[in-house]
Formats: sequence, C-alpha cells, structure tokens
Amino acid sequence: MYILVECCNHYFMRYATYMPATVDLHCHSTISDGLYPPEQLVAHAHKQGVKVLALTDHDDVGGLKVARETAESLGMTFINGVEISVTWKKYTLHIVGLRVDPEYEPLKTALDGVRQSRLERAEIMGKGLEEAGIEGAFDGAKAIAGNSIITRSHFARFLVEAGHVKGVKAVFKKYLVKGKPGYVEQQWMSLEQAVTLIKDSGGTAVIAHPGRYGLGMVNTHLLMHEFRKLGGEAIEVVTGSHTPPQYDQFAKIAHRFSLKSSLGSDFHGPGVSYMEMGCICDLPVGCVPVWQDWEEVQLSS
Ligand code: AMP
Ligand code: MN
Ligand code: MN
Ligand code: MN
Repeated sequence: MYILVECCNHYFMRYATYMPATVDLHCHSTISDGLYPPEQLVAHAHKQGVKVLALTDHDDVGGLKVARETAESLGMTFINGVEISVTWKKYTLHIVGLRVDPEYEPLKTALDGVRQSRLERAEIMGKGLEEAGIEGAFDGAKAIAGNSIITRSHFARFLVEAGHVKGVKAVFKKYLVKGKPGYVEQQWMSLEQAVTLIKDSGGTAVIAHPGRYGLGMVNTHLLMHEFRKLGGEAIEVVTGSHTPPQYDQFAKIAHRFSLKSSLGSDFHGPGVSYMEMGCICDLPVGCVPVWQDWEEVQLSS
C-alpha cells in the first residue's frame, strides 16, 4: 500500500509504513555535479537527520577527506564513496564504490583518465551545441564546473542560465540525451574494470539505481549475473530515482541473485535532486543491508 508523504515541501509516493532512513549511501557535492561543497553537504545531511553518510561523487574521490572530517566532527559515521560511469553493452551504467580507499593508486590513476576524457567529451558537446546555434556552451559549462569534473549537469545549468530552456529536465530532453545536439557517445570503463578497482581498493561495488537504465528483464538479469560473478556485492534498492514499486521489484532481484541492498537519495542539491536527504525510506523488510557486516555502522533499531 502506497501513500503520498510530504517531506521538505515535496510530495513523494511512499509505503504506508513509511519510515525515514538514517542511512544515505549516495549523494553528490561540488567535486562533481552537486550544488553544495562537501562541508556544506555533510552539514545539510546532519540537519536532515542522516547518521551514516557516504559521499559518492562522479568519477572523483577529491571530496572525501574534508567530508569525513566534517561528518566526524558532527558525530556522524562517514563512508568513503565514488560513483563510476561504466559502459556495459550499449548502456551507460553507474557503479557506486563504498568503503573505497581514495589513496589507492590504480583507482586514482583510472579516475584521472576519466576526468581527462570527460574534458575531451565536453569539448565535442560544445561543438555539437554550437552547430545547433548555441554559442559558448563549453566555456559556460566549464566556468560553472570550475576545477570539478565536467558533466552534462554543468551543460544543463549553463543552458538554463543562458535562457535557452526553462528547466533542467527540459534541457536534457531537448539537448543532452541520445540523438540531441549536445549528446556524445562516450566509451566509459568496463564493468569489470570498475568492479575490480573498487574491490582491490578495499571497497564494495554496488549497482546504482538499476531501474533507471531501461534494461528490460533479460538484460537486467544478465547484468546481475555478470556483476555477481565479477565480485559485485549489492544493488541500490531504495534510491531517489526508483518508484516504490521498483523498491519491491529490486528487493526481489537482490534476493534472487544473492546480492545485498543499498539505499541513497542521490541528492545533488535543493531543487535539482531526485530526493531530499533524510526523506528516503528504509529498505523493504527482508533485504540484507549492504552495511550488515560493517563494524563502523552501529544503528540502534
Ligand atoms: P554525465 O555523467 O556527464 O553523463 O552526466 C550525468 C548526470 O546528469 C547524472 O549524474 C545526473 O546528475 C544528470 N542527469 C542525467 N539525466 C538527467 C535528467 N533527465 N534530468 C536531470 N538530470 C539528469
Ligand atoms: Mn549527477
Ligand atoms: Mn547515477
Ligand atoms: Mn549519483
């Protein structure tokens, strides 16, 4: 049974037995495409009632140190994280690494390579947009990104700020998805490479928002099978980008493939995130939490 729940001025469809989770293992800071710097993001999570937090910036671990210091000063448990873009078949997938070691050299080197290829991709995106009559998109997006990695979100913000489109959702549809002028087909690292880097750095590999890729049943099952074989351990069951029926669907899939379950808001900032922090609900009954054996996570139930 689902009901409409109001949280932080937004309405969400939720289980009737809605319990806000105090764990959030997926969010973004200005180190990638979030709006808050790491310190502010952690303080915001704290204010929203989060007790166990992972920062999972896209393809960058640069925010972890200061985020951890802030979290620990506020009495929160902090988990090192990263969200790595992967090409699997014709799909771009996101693999979250939790408890990774940000000093692990092969991980650092691989992420440096991704950041460089993102820059080259952004230049091509800029050219595509220029051909569609939009001037200065690369420079504009780069200025918004500053020293951070450059993503489609930065292009989206530029296009909205420059008045080309009204909102971020419409921008993606019109300019930044497959077949549109600002879209560039990108070859990210392989699933095997991402899972191996995460595992070898001491971390746990998690498939982010598996319901968002439009995989269909056959490919979903193939992915789960392959991911498990490579040493992947969990999937996100509750995420800002899943609907409550998808929580149930992916809880069943996790069980079927002997995978643990993770949860996270995928918060990027006020107004741009799929979900506010502290508003996501707990894992469905019967899920094995990804943090089950993590000694640093002590939750009183
Ligand atoms: P990139 O990794 O550069 O392809 O950028 C992907 C990021 O763009 C995602 O992590 C989201 O934050 C954002 N994004 C992708 N699709 C959408 C969408 N339809 N609406 C809003 N943000 C989106
Ligand atoms: Mn993002
Ligand atoms: Mn993602
Ligand atoms: Mn994310």
